Amino acid sequence: MEEKYTQILERIYSEISPLITRGKVADYIPELGKVDPNQFGMSVCTNSGHEYIIGNSQKSFSIQSISKVFTLVLAYSKLDRKLWERVGREPSGTRFDSLVLLENEEGIPRNPFINAGAIVVVDILLDLYEDPINEVLKFVRELSGNEDIFINEKVRDSELECANRNYALTYFMKSFGNIRNDVSTVIEAYTSICSIEMSCVDLARSFRLFSSNGENPWNGKRILTKSQNKRMNAIMMTCGLYNSVGDFAYRVGIPAKSGVGGGIVGVIPNEMSISTWSPCLDKTGNSLAGIKALELFTTYSEQSIY
Ligand code: GLN
Repeated sequence: MEEKYTQILERIYSEISPLITRGKVADYIPELGKVDPNQFGMSVCTNSGHEYIIGNSQKSFSIQSISKVFTLVLAYSKLDRKLWERVGREPSGTRFDSLVLLENEEGIPRNPFINAGAIVVVDILLDLYEDPINEVLKFVRELSGNEDIFINEKVRDSELECANRNYALTYFMKSFGNIRNDVSTVIEAYTSICSIEMSCVDLARSFRLFSSNGENPWNGKRILTKSQNKRMNAIMMTCGLYNSVGDFAYRVGIPAKSGVGGGIVGVIPNEMSISTWSPCLDKTGNSLAGIKALELFTTYSEQSIY
């Protein structure tokens, strides 16, 4: 088995190499635009406790929207179905920062993995925890076993300087009563959490939670009920890759979440977690080489939830 996955990762690395610099690094956050585009990493963590890595898998990068999974777990594990009074769980079919559906739905975002939805989740966390930013940091450190995970303040400040669209979304939702805290406080917390840096290794280890039925496999602590975990995976499957979620299901076929930092993390329930990172993005804001690498992984390993 060991050899099989090592060989698969090597084959993937050589096949995606020509793609690494295709696409475009996210530069709407100026600090992210400075990242060297020529990087690729991948990590696989199996439920049997094996880990396989290749490329820049230990290098930390901005997790951005992948953080939306961690904030959702913290809110959902406390509120359970009450959470769905404030945020929907349907794919949006629109860009991750879109405003268009908010008016029809009276300030209830389509799902927790687009910006509007994640901002509502952070608003909820501000009411649940005294220091939600620290709570998320503590949570990802515990899940990954890496105490050094940090917030890149340069990236946070750079995004805050041009966060007009997120401010607009948040004020709009507040006009419907779906944001309870001060708008700047919510945006600052949301942006800080997006600016957490983790590596492929950290992310794959963290996502063992979702391949292990909602239990932290490293210390046996139950975080989500089995049913909640199943539902988290369902939401990743249907909403995890913005407006290319259908294409991702077709090509890759696993629940996953992406971020504009170029990371993607996925899970094969009861089997393994897989992460990739490569900064150049396609038109929908997902890592171009990362998607191809995951497509090849599920093809060569003959793994998929379908
Ligand atoms: N912080 C980013 C934003 O709000 C996250 C977007 C993303 O990763 N898709 O625009």
